[in-house]
Amino acid sequence: MRFTFVTLFSQLIEGYFSDSILRRAIDAELIEVEFVNPRDFSTNKFLKVDDYQVGGGAGLVLEPLALSLALDSIKRQNPKTHIIFLTPCAKTFLQNDAKRLSQREHITLVCGRYEGFDERLIELYADEVFSIGDFILTGGELAALCLCDSIARQVGGVLGNQDSLLGESYEKYLLEAPNFVKPHRFKNLTIPSEYSKGNHARIADLKLKAAEAKTKFHRPDLYVRYKQGLNDEK
Ligand code: SAH
Repeated sequence: MRFTFVTLFSQLIEGYFSDSILRRAIDAELIEVEFVNPRDFSTNKFLKVDDYQVGGGAGLVLEPLALSLALDSIKRQNPKTHIIFLTPCAKTFLQNDAKRLSQREHITLVCGRYEGFDERLIELYADEVFSIGDFILTGGELAALCLCDSIARQVGGVLGNQDSLLGESYEKYLLEAPNFVKPHRFKNLTIPSEYSKGNHARIADLKLKAAEAKTKFHRPDLYVRYKQGLNDEK
């Protein structure tokens, strides 16, 4: 699977792929990452890619021409690419989106800067728009990395153990149960004793209860949907 980051600051992103799971995924040719800089498409003699807002307003906005030329060139190479704009003005990216998008062959992630994009770029080019939460970043690079990372780990073979994808947080609207490793006693806190007794049905039952309690406490909104799901299954 290929990811194309459209960004003015590829060096902010590159380091993330220099080690660990995603580095190995690139080496194993499970994923491919490339960068396109809109500045390379600027027709302005100073290579400017931003401009003042028509009608006034604080801050600069990415002007449409350079970015549109960059996106046209990506589409020429791969007309089927799925173009995602990162913007706080969108629905929040969710785990189900990561799973769904991991089926795509090529995703283009468009990172905004300054006050964001000329709105017409979104009209013309976006297949989808995503926010990563109700807060404002200085640019779309971190948001694009969040999407790429969570989509890539759904791609077959990227995680060493595919079972890691089972029962993760957000499956069926539940947060994952607490995990423990040795030692059994750590700074006077112990692991639930049943966990060490090897009765896997009992452990699964305890983990489900712990996951429910954790979800109810941290994410009452999810808990309501989890309960609804259980009722629908009946
Ligand atoms: N003025 C804009 C914010 C611009 S932030 C507004 O008030 O809506 C600059 C860029 O950072 C955005 O174009 C977007 O690409 C990125 N960005 C900031 N916050 C984000 C978020 N929560 N999710 C996704 N992208 C975000």
